Amino acid sequence: MQVRRIVIAGGGTAGWMTAAGLSKLLGPLGLDICLVESEQIGTVGVGEATLPHMRFFNRTLGLDERELMAFTNATFKLGIEFRDWARIGDSYVHPFGDYGPADQEIPFHHVWHRLHAEGRAGRIDDFSLPVRMSERGKFDFPSTDPDNLLSTFSYAYQLDASLYAKYLRRFSEANGVRRIEGRIMSVERNGDSGDIRALALESGERLEGELFIDCTGFRAMLIGKEMGAEFDDWSNWLPCDRAIAVACEMAGESVAYTRATARPAGWQWRIPLQHRTGNGHVYSSDCMSDDEAADILLGSLEAKALGDPKFLRFKAGMRPKQWVGNCVSIGLSSGFLEPLESTSIYLIQAGITALAELMPSGGVDTRDIEEFNRVMQLEYDRIRDFLILHYHVTERDDSDFWNYVRTMSIPDSLREKIELFRSRGVVQEYKDGLFLHPSWVAVYLGQRVMPQGRDPRADAMDEARLNEMLDLPAQIERKLDPCAAHEDAVKSYCKPRMAAPS
Ligand SMILES: Cc1cc2nc3c(=O)[nH]c(=O)nc-3n(C[C@H](O)[C@H](O)[C@H](O)COP(=O)(O)OP(=O)(O)OC[C@H]3O[C@@H](n4cnc5c(N)ncnc54)[C@H](O)[C@@H]3O)c2cc1C
Repeated sequence: MQVRRIVIAGGGTAGWMTAAGLSKLLGPLGLDICLVESEQIGTVGVGEATLPHMRFFNRTLGLDERELMAFTNATFKLGIEFRDWARIGDSYVHPFGDYGPADQEIPFHHVWHRLHAEGRAGRIDDFSLPVRMSERGKFDFPSTDPDNLLSTFSYAYQLDASLYAKYLRRFSEANGVRRIEGRIMSVERNGDSGDIRALALESGERLEGELFIDCTGFRAMLIGKEMGAEFDDWSNWLPCDRAIAVACEMAGESVAYTRATARPAGWQWRIPLQHRTGNGHVYSSDCMSDDEAADILLGSLEAKALGDPKFLRFKAGMRPKQWVGNCVSIGLSSGFLEPLESTSIYLIQAGITALAELMPSGGVDTRDIEEFNRVMQLEYDRIRDFLILHYHVTERDDSDFWNYVRTMSIPDSLREKIELFRSRGVVQEYKDGLFLHPSWVAVYLGQRVMPQGRDPRADAMDEARLNEMLDLPAQIERKLDPCAAHEDAVKSYCKPRMAAPS
C-alpha cells in the first residue's frame, strides 16, 4: 500500500526528532504524520550530552541555534574528559576535533610519536586546540578557513533533552504534525501480511496508517512486543546495566565538556548546563548494589541535589531488524549501548536520515528494509567497538569489574583494530559510521596504548617541518588567549530562556 499516513508511537527525544525530521525532509510529499504520546507514562528523562552531528540535524531543520540553546539551557561541548580510566589518577580529553596543525601530510599522532620518543614532545593533548580550549575553560566558534587553527574542531551541546523535545514538538506541530495525547492499548495487525493496521488507544480512538514508527523507548511496544524483532544482547562486552541520575545546583563555572570518571563498577557522568549540573552513575549490577552506587553518586555531588535520584535499568544491545514489515524502530526501542560517549541521540538521527532516504515511494519494499537494517547494524557495530575499547584497554585491577572488562574476550573487529594500532599506530579507517580517526587516537593514547612503530614518513620529515610542529602548542595558546571564557561565550550568545510552550 502506498505510504500516505505515518504514525509515530511515542514522544520522547526520538519521537519528536522523528516527527521534526520527517515533516521537514518529506514535506514536499504531503504525508499525513501524527504522533501519539502519553504524559502519564512519560519519557526516560535522561540524555543531556550530545555529539556535533546534532548541529547538522538542527541546521537541516533550519532551527535558530541561539534560540534553541537559550530554550534548552544549553552549553557548548568540545569533548569529554575521561578520568581514572587506564589508571587511577590518569586524565585525558576526547576532543571533537583533531590533533596537530590545520594542514597535515600524515596523521599527526605519528609525528608526535617520533617527537615523544626523541624526548622533544610532552603530551599529545598540547597539540590539540579543542583539548586545550576545554582545559582552559574557553570557547570560540570554529573557523571556516581551512588554514586557521580554529578550523581543527567542532562542537556539540549539553542541553536539557526534555526541553529539546518540547522545542521540536512546537516545530513539528507548526510543520503540520498532529499530536495525540493518549495511551496505546493494543496493536491491530493485517491478518495476511502481518503488517500493522492501526493503534488502538485507551480513549477508543484508532490511529490507522501505512507506516508505523516505534519510538516507545525501552518498552519497544511495536517492534519488540508486537513484531517480535529479536534483541542482540551485548552485555557480555558492555556489562553496565544500571544508572542513577540526579541533577544538582551549579557549582563553579560551567565548562565546555562532559566528564566521565571511572568508578569501581562503572563510571560517573557530569554534564554542566547553564542552570544546573546533570550527574549520573552507570554501573554493573553484578558488581555493585543500587545502594552502594547511590552512595558513590550522592557522596560526590558538588552542590545540593535538585530532587530525588532516578534509578534506571537497561541492557546493552540492539535489534538487528530495526525495520520489520511496516514498522520502523527509532530511539531506545531499537537498541541502546550505554550512555558512554553519548551516542544514542546520534543513533536517532542516523535512523531518521536512513528512513528519509529510503522512504517508500509506493509500498514498503523489502530491499529498503534490508538496506535500513544493514546501515543501522553498521552504526551500532562501530559504536559498540569504540565503547568496549574504553573498558578493555585499562591497566586497572582494583575491582572485579575492571578485572572482568580488562580480560574479557572482545569482538574480532575490535581486536583487529587494537592490534593494528599497537603495531604501528594505524587507525582502521571507515567511511560510514561514528567516531573517526582522532577519536580512536584520543582513547588509545589516553588509555596508554602506545604503538610500537609509526608511519615511516614521520621519520623522513625534515627538521624545518618538525620545528613547525614543535611550535604548535605555543601557537595554540596564542590563538586561545583572546577567546572568551566558556561561560561568558554562552551568556553573550544565548538570549534569555524563552517560556516553554504549553
Ligand atoms: C542512563 C541513561 C543516560 C543517557 N544519556 C544519554 C546522553 O547523554 N546522550 C544521548 O545521546 N543519549 C543518552 N541516553 C539515551 C537517551 O536518553 C535516549 O536516546 C533518548 O532520550 C530517546 O529516548 P526515546 O525517545 O527512545 O524513549 P523515551 O524517552 O522513553 O520516550 C518514549 C515515549 O513513548 C511513549 N510511550 C511509551 N509507551 C506508550 C504507550 N503505551 N502509549 C503511548 N505512549 C507511549 C512515552 O510516553 C514517551 O513519550 C541515555 C539513556 C540512559 C538510560
